Amino acid sequence: MKFYNTLTKRVDEFVPYEEGIVRMYTCGPTVYYYAHIGNLRTYVFEDILEKGLTYCGYQVKRVMNITDVGHMTSDADTGEDKMEKGAKREGKTVYEIADFYTKAFFEDLEKLNVKKPEIVEKASDHIDQYIKMVEQLLQKGYAYISNGNVYFDISKIPNYYELSGKVQEELMVGVRDTVENDEAKRNPFDFGLWFTLSKFENQAMKWDSPWGVGYPGWHIECSGIAALYLGEYIDIHCGGVDNIFPHHSNEIAQSESYFGHKWCNFWMHGEHLNDAKGKMSKSNGEILTISTLEKQGFSPLSYRYFCLGSHYRKQLLFSMESLNIASSSYRKLKSKVQSIKEEGEYQEDLALSYQEKFKEAIGNDLNTSMMLTILFDVLKDDKLSGLTKISLVKSFDTVLSLDLLKKEEKVDDDLDSFVQEKIQERILAKQNKDYQKADAIRDELLAMGIRLKDGKEKTTYERL
Ligand code: AMP
Ligand code: ZN
Repeated sequence: MKFYNTLTKRVDEFVPYEEGIVRMYTCGPTVYYYAHIGNLRTYVFEDILEKGLTYCGYQVKRVMNITDVGHMTSDADTGEDKMEKGAKREGKTVYEIADFYTKAFFEDLEKLNVKKPEIVEKASDHIDQYIKMVEQLLQKGYAYISNGNVYFDISKIPNYYELSGKVQEELMVGVRDTVENDEAKRNPFDFGLWFTLSKFENQAMKWDSPWGVGYPGWHIECSGIAALYLGEYIDIHCGGVDNIFPHHSNEIAQSESYFGHKWCNFWMHGEHLNDAKGKMSKSNGEILTISTLEKQGFSPLSYRYFCLGSHYRKQLLFSMESLNIASSSYRKLKSKVQSIKEEGEYQEDLALSYQEKFKEAIGNDLNTSMMLTILFDVLKDDKLSGLTKISLVKSFDTVLSLDLLKKEEKVDDDLDSFVQEKIQERILAKQNKDYQKADAIRDELLAMGIRLKDGKEKTTYERL
């Protein structure tokens, strides 16, 4: 199997530390608000990766953190306290905010058929582990105390910029825009491991430590949780591309200095979902969530299908029009699959050869559109019996997770009431002998992929 590795900037053969087992760490969400569909694109990519590895025979042990400790921004270790901001906005405690949005996050994952990782851990539950690591980093000379805070000294790490490919001198030019000028740091890109001096007043989340009451830096949570649940070596670490710098670069610096050896061989990053305004982002104001899509009549799985149509390393431009196109081809695919009669002989050799092709697509840097093409090839292959086809669909769907064989897709309530209103309007038009209007309503619905069926007693509809 080959995947693109951000660390080497090549497509590399994937070899785990321990044969047959993949230890995988995926950075989880910051739970101060709903996940937007951009965040969810990254979780869909990681889900396909986990299921693809399982399909190819690996046992995957996967860990994810939940960032519920505030005091950070997503791109730097300074900035506004998002958890507190969320709490103020909603008149709740930071813990209530974290619980509420963690639950909402897993509900979204479930709707998208994203498997919950085997181990999910809250950042706020592992303070002792971070303290232990920070103590070690201080002892080994990788960290220093300044102005009441503990910082990691990046000058101790010769390969600090290896993952990001960034050049310190170039970063320095834009330093005022990227990191807040913290006088206590020796180098502007040193990062906080533990803060006791906070610019945030009355923060709710704080703990005692050898350096005083305070809270951990953002990056140490992932190094700490990965060490506790996956051990000294991990095989794959994932996230969105915005995590590469500084977050993942800092994780490498901390973990490798703590363990005293190389830590993770494979770094895989999903590209962003963009909208017309650019990268979709929680802090940008308006965001699209799975519920927004559902309210507009889209099933969450049509969004999953939309994501699978393009490669995870390519930026993906989102629009309602393109989701609509994906949604109608998803419905067509489902109805094609469900029209197959499960009959005839099971053709083992043919099935095996298709399964091998599917594995090749997985091992071809997780080529999801190729996986879909193989599925379409199966559906139109005349040599295959219905039984073989259905069994291949079932097998591929353990990775694609599109519920291809699940009957009926629940039509969204909002869409249903919209269509019912249109049906009533059309009945009225017919009663008034305004057949032009009645036909216009029928055509309008048809253009949305909804076909009306006039029965003896009432008019029903189907989605095309
Ligand atoms: P956050 O909750 O901000 O920590 O982000 C959760 C995950 O979503 C991280 O892996 C980010 O890299 C990823 N992410 C953030 N914005 C986008 C986007 N527009 N498209 C895809 N992934 C994103
Ligand atoms: Zn992380």
